[in-house]
Amino acid sequence: MFSKTDVQNNLSEVVDILDNILGYSKNHNDFSGQISYDCPICSHEIKGLDKGDGKGNLEINYKLGVYKCWACCDTHRTYGVLRFFIKKYGSKEQLKKYDLLAPEEAEIYKKKYNPVKLPKEFILLNSVTTGFKLTHHYKRAMGYLRSRNITDDMMQRHHIGFCYTGEYAGRIIIPSYDDNLDLNYFIARTYDERNKLKYKNPEAEKEVIIWNERLIDWDEPVYLVEGPFDSIFLPNSIPMLGKTLSEKLFTDLYEKAQKIIIVLDGDAWENAKKIYSKLNGGRLFGKIWIIKLPIDKDIADLQGNLNNFEMKQLV
Ligand SMILES: [Zn+2]
Repeated sequence: MFSKTDVQNNLSEVVDILDNILGYSKNHNDFSGQISYDCPICSHEIKGLDKGDGKGNLEINYKLGVYKCWACCDTHRTYGVLRFFIKKYGSKEQLKKYDLLAPEEAEIYKKKYNPVKLPKEFILLNSVTTGFKLTHHYKRAMGYLRSRNITDDMMQRHHIGFCYTGEYAGRIIIPSYDDNLDLNYFIARTYDERNKLKYKNPEAEKEVIIWNERLIDWDEPVYLVEGPFDSIFLPNSIPMLGKTLSEKLFTDLYEKAQKIIIVLDGDAWENAKKIYSKLNGGRLFGKIWIIKLPIDKDIADLQGNLNNFEMKQLV
């Protein structure tokens, strides 16, 4: 653990990192940990300046690990967790150093990123041998996927498998991998219709992952959908793993997406409208579209064919 002097030293090193990223600070209260700088978004993105705008509107509290720009927080969402700010505006080395200096904050993230592993009984469907294909385990798992119109190509692309023993016995497993191809989550859907527990997913913070980001091209329109089964049928789609948008997904969409099309299940139109208004602001303003599906339909039912539905913008 850190002693009091260590903490003081660490905090002054955090200030060094911030100075390196943002230039000279305007005001600094080292007792409260409050420090202000010219906001890079106001200065560069909004005003197109090469240097700071001299306003000092970006307030950081490094003891609390938060930041906010008083001028552009509403239009550009310039507020939140300091670590995200350093991740975006600093270098990899600066972030690494920050994580060492602000261990409590880093700890929160580490805890959230509880490593997920595939069940040891996991069988990748594309890898099964001819002999195994004769077993009833295989036939049942495949029967379920076929009944949902999932093709071999989709299974391969999405790395779909199943378990017939262990904690996830009788379940189709769909894994999610991040940009570095590291597993970050999976869902386990029963193929035994008598099983009342349809999904049994691992204990992990699904709020802090982007489902299969490895398959996402941020330069192309991104579809926002509800579940992993929807995303199998619709290329470049991100499932929210529910009917609401996590802060992590919101932040990533806000920073990376060029155009977003929201397509939730037909029965979730009110949720879809809420997400639309949440996203349609700042740099994403005018770049959000929405598709309304019939009340009893989802993307998987339609096998990803959205041709018959109008894509529109709300007023
Ligand atoms: Zn600003």
